[in-house]
Amino acid sequence: MSDRIIKGLAYDGRVSIIAMESTEICEEARKVHSLSPVCTAAFGRLLTVTALIGCQMKSDDNKLTIQIKGNGPIGTMLTVANPIPVVKGYVINPAVDLPLNEFGKLDVSSAVGNEGFIHVIKDIGLKDPYVGISPIVSGEIADDFANYFLDSEQTNSAVALGVLVDKDGVRKAGGYIINPMPDVREEDLTALEKAIFEAGSVSKMLENNLDIEELARKVTGDKKLKIVERNDSAKYECDCNKGRMEKALVALGKEELQKMIEEDGGLEMSCHFCNKKYQFSKEELLKLI
Ligand SMILES: [Zn+2]
Repeated sequence: MSDRIIKGLAYDGRVSIIAMESTEICEEARKVHSLSPVCTAAFGRLLTVTALIGCQMKSDDNKLTIQIKGNGPIGTMLTVANPIPVVKGYVINPAVDLPLNEFGKLDVSSAVGNEGFIHVIKDIGLKDPYVGISPIVSGEIADDFANYFLDSEQTNSAVALGVLVDKDGVRKAGGYIINPMPDVREEDLTALEKAIFEAGSVSKMLENNLDIEELARKVTGDKKLKIVERNDSAKYECDCNKGRMEKALVALGKEELQKMIEEDGGLEMSCHFCNKKYQFSKEELLKLI
């Protein structure tokens, strides 16, 4: 199952928006990692913004990696996306459970922490990858990325992310990034601000069964919003295989492999991104040496 992303232009091209529903991605991540509700919300928001940024890369072999390392109990969260976007990732402590916050909502900020850093690494085929770093400002993820865009990319973006979780799993999830273009007018920004405020939260809009195009029109406040791209292939999927695991083992070095053979005979490795298990027999390990 996959999710839909759209790109649109509002106010005659003076404002751009990229928006997605990410319900399937977040539910798949929840199942793969047995995420608690607050971890589903935190990691789901991160996966959503990773997909939104990732799908703006140009070439098939481009790769985006995002790491959030906060001082909360969740520990590091890491996500990876390609331009399709296919996303994957992991959370260090997926079972973290916290009481609801003062608004009766999942306390993402306390789980992630309000101190620490976001690292954004874009490998777009140049000699060195682009690396952007900015501090966590609230741990609610959307604010942190708005601050990242301002800090590292000098864009004044509006970012909203929402994951609605109940006892059966992810009910709705999605998000958007709005960017004013250089020729944006003062009145566009005023109208935009009003529309964003009146639209309310992403998860609420999706829960009210707004599709992603209606959502984009609502948050931009432009009924004539022009959809310039529709993409229905966003999904959570891991591309691991035994060959890659072998490479990781070889990278450990001869000595380490020798030790594994002597101590355990064989080895079982599991993939961080999908928890798939790979067995290596003594003979296979010897071959790698
Ligand atoms: Zn995997």
